[in-house]
Amino acid sequence: MSSNIKIPKFCQYCGQAFVAQTTTTRYCSKTCNSRHYKQLKRDEKVRATLKEQINSVTNTNVQDLQSLQNLPIKSGNFINLRDKEFLSVQEAAILVGASRWTIQRMIQRDEIKTGKLGRRTIIPRTAIDNLFKS
Ligand SMILES: [Zn+2]
Repeated sequence: MSSNIKIPKFCQYCGQAFVAQTTTTRYCSKTCNSRHYKQLKRDEKVRATLKEQINSVTNTNVQDLQSLQNLPIKSGNFINLRDKEFLSVQEAAILVGASRWTIQRMIQRDEIKTGKLGRRTIIPRTAIDNLFKS
């Protein structure tokens, strides 16, 4: 019964009108079918290559970021900061992994108690530790 039905369609590859025997037919001929299939495969390949390129770029950036973050640890600064009793604003920022400006703002809001050593602002380690006590 299904072989008797006639469905007017347009070929998905060449756009030509044709009469399909089944609802799933999408091409006017086998040639169009295989050509379109090859085209789709080619597009797929191009997309895959593009995706790979994007991924490799993204991965590089992530690795760069990680190596930047690891820098203080590698150079030993991080360990030294942990042992220090008093920190500069910059050192406190490195220790908690925040920006200098975040630390400055917290000082202005009195969230971090600071001391003065001459003209320099110093932050006792205990002030940093207190941040994490509830
Ligand atoms: Zn066709």
